[in-house]
Amino acid sequence: VIETKPIDGKAFAAGLRARIAEEVARLGAAHGLKPGLAVVLVGEDPASQVYVRNKAAQTLEAGMTSFEHKLAVDTPEAELLALIARLNADPAVNGILVQLPLPAQIDAMKVLSTIDPAKDVDGFHVVNAGRLAVGLDALVPCTPLGCVMLLKHHLGNLSGLKAVVVGRSNIVGKPAAQLLLKEDCTVTIAHSRTRDLPGECRTADILVAAVGRPEMVRGDWIKPGATVIDVGINRIPKPDGKTRLVGDVAYQEAQGIAGLITPVPGGVGPMTIACLLQNTLTAAKRQVGLE
Ligand code: NDP
Repeated sequence: VIETKPIDGKAFAAGLRARIAEEVARLGAAHGLKPGLAVVLVGEDPASQVYVRNKAAQTLEAGMTSFEHKLAVDTPEAELLALIARLNADPAVNGILVQLPLPAQIDAMKVLSTIDPAKDVDGFHVVNAGRLAVGLDALVPCTPLGCVMLLKHHLGNLSGLKAVVVGRSNIVGKPAAQLLLKEDCTVTIAHSRTRDLPGECRTADILVAAVGRPEMVRGDWIKPGATVIDVGINRIPKPDGKTRLVGDVAYQEAQGIAGLITPVPGGVGPMTIACLLQNTLTAAKRQVGLE
């Protein structure tokens, strides 16, 4: 019988934030450097407001400076691009994050490609995506970076392991696959057109689910003893009219089959902001030549 162990992303993220805070304090004392993160929010999407608030709070807790820019939902694209140009030129700003999704009048790709790649702490600029793909130092998207940190912490060397990533978005699936390839995994990227998705998943020593479909990955899709990283965050209704969060993996069914699994909430979720702070620290150090 396999005893399935949960991966405590909340505790790991707290430890990572503490290590980042120590490094920020050290940089301040030794070099007078205080990393700054600018977060831009356009409109009043409730989920985005919560994310932005949490990002700002954790930035301050880590000893960094937080700059918040809240723009009206009808802000013209040119105005947002002008703000980004000012942030690109501001030496107190080491990282720039534009909260997605953006309202319809704004072209998100255009906005992301206006951010200075050296300050692109979300890692969404094509220069950073390309640098990751060819194996150069890059700012890497936060959620997949968090996934791979958890995997390395729990499994050690990933070399030679078979990884299946379900989902091919630029934000999660593709960069997760790139990072696993960099760790010498044998990587398969599955998506909505994949034939025999359960069969593909069953080959995985490491199964990453980044789909956005509640509990789509069933217990019998998991190879016994595999490590399951559930990136999905899905809100589903409860009988009492309230809602609860579930992942892309049927967590109860995975018990007794998976070796390790990230719960939702408390698995991958908390790693995202911790990795954003890590990227801001990395960006700040590189900008002043300390890396
Ligand atoms: P996207 O919607 O951009 O991508 C979803 C991917 O899943 C697509 O590649 C799609 O394939 C694939 N897919 C959809 N349906 C199926 C199916 N039936 N079978 C196989 N593949 C399928 O989502 P994101 O990558 O942005 O996010 C994925 C999940 O992760 C969401 O639940 C999101 O909430 C969560 N998330 C969590 C974060 C965190 O923990 N902090 C951060 C970011 C996201 P195709 O390309 O063919 O359409």
